[in-house]
Amino acid sequence: MKMYKAGAWCDSPDKMEVRSPYSGGVIDSVPRASLADLEEAISSARDAAGEMCRLPAYERSRILRTGAEMLEASAERFAQTLASEVGKTIREARGEVSRSVETLRLSSEEAKRIHGETVPFDAGPVAVNKVGFYMRVPVGLVAAISPFNFPLNLVLHKVGPAIAAGNSVILKPASATPLVALMLTELLLEAGLPPTAINALTGPGGEIGDALVADPRIDMVTFTGSLEVGRRIAARRGLGKLTMELGSNSACIVMQGADLDRAVPKIVRGGYALAGQVCISVQRVYVLDAIYDQFLERLIPQVRSLKVGDPLDETVDMGPMVTEEAAVRALDWIAEAVDAGATAVVGGGRARALLEPTVLTDVSPEAKVSCEEAFAPILVVNRVHTLDEAIAGVNDSKYGLQAGIFTNDIGQAFDAARRIETGGVMMRVVCFDLG
Ligand code: NAP
Repeated sequence: MKMYKAGAWCDSPDKMEVRSPYSGGVIDSVPRASLADLEEAISSARDAAGEMCRLPAYERSRILRTGAEMLEASAERFAQTLASEVGKTIREARGEVSRSVETLRLSSEEAKRIHGETVPFDAGPVAVNKVGFYMRVPVGLVAAISPFNFPLNLVLHKVGPAIAAGNSVILKPASATPLVALMLTELLLEAGLPPTAINALTGPGGEIGDALVADPRIDMVTFTGSLEVGRRIAARRGLGKLTMELGSNSACIVMQGADLDRAVPKIVRGGYALAGQVCISVQRVYVLDAIYDQFLERLIPQVRSLKVGDPLDETVDMGPMVTEEAAVRALDWIAEAVDAGATAVVGGGRARALLEPTVLTDVSPEAKVSCEEAFAPILVVNRVHTLDEAIAGVNDSKYGLQAGIFTNDIGQAFDAARRIETGGVMMRVVCFDLG
């Protein structure tokens, strides 16, 4: 496919191959953008920022609504490409497309609700008889840098709101999965987006990404990706506007009294969806001693029964990791944990980029598979004796994205939510069964 720059689709003799994570075969190629391409995109998008800020709210809303309708109409085409380039199962890919339609719809609705407020200046004696108000204005030119795992919906989490608020955009999709981002760019242009309001540049993050985030003509950077790259961007960006969504080694707690019939399938889904490559994938599980054996007895057969294979096969539950190198890295981490005394009670093997769904027990908290982001189909199950011990385990992390608790005690769930140091805590509380 071509990339989109300064109002035109363009190619380059310098290409990057896009490979199927499942077969390893080349499915397409994209241009490798140069710094000269980036310069053209920035200069054009700066001019477009002036045009976008004059585009009325109803028009921005209409473009996004039309985009949602068009995406819905071509959902299967997008889902097939997603499954091929990411390796997520076709069912997961369809789920991402339908969420993306919602993201576009929500962005379209929000385009009409961006307004300021009046401020009661006379709250202080020095400003009696004065009225204050503020208006929201576009930031200007937004650089959007997205990760490989949700290359449609997470691109839209950035591009949708940026357009809704009247900004121009330079999008840099992940190099492993750039195809749906380019398809989306085409769709938004067909939906009526002004031709220079968006640029989609394909190229290595370490080259064009580095230059993009540090350029003073970029008014805002929105980045979703790893902690490591996030740190680098923050250092290069300095005081410039920047929002980031980074990674995690998310944990959940299973309390005595939790409904295991519901908790175990949820944990299996949380651990192995998209081969564990979701920012809030369940990675560490803290199970109360009294139900630890019972929990494992239920977990193990459910993990073993997951069908792993071709993501385009409708019956497959889990596809490959994004690359063979990623699977090799995850296998090394499993080996490191096992060498230090852990047991792989399920899995621990690999064929190409397909890592077996793996369950590890007796893992040292210092093992990478516990303290780093595994981003792989691996669950680390820990035995704990009290809620305090479980919370201490959850909080023993440099990450802080998400956690969860399964319990039958709502007070306990809120107590944990207050003490767990993550941005969000999912609570599954089953106090009684309505049958
Ligand atoms: P990544 O390696 O950090 O890459 C993310 C994006 O940053 C890619 O487009 C990458 O380009 C680009 N990039 C790399 N180096 C850069 C640099 N020096 N300057 C600017 N951009 C640069 O992450 P990933 O492997 O694609 O995605 C997985 C990570 O994303 C995980 O850590 C996951 O938890 C996180 N994530 C977080 C959320 C959330 O909402 N919190 C959601 C999804 C994923 P290239 O592909 O060309 O290297």
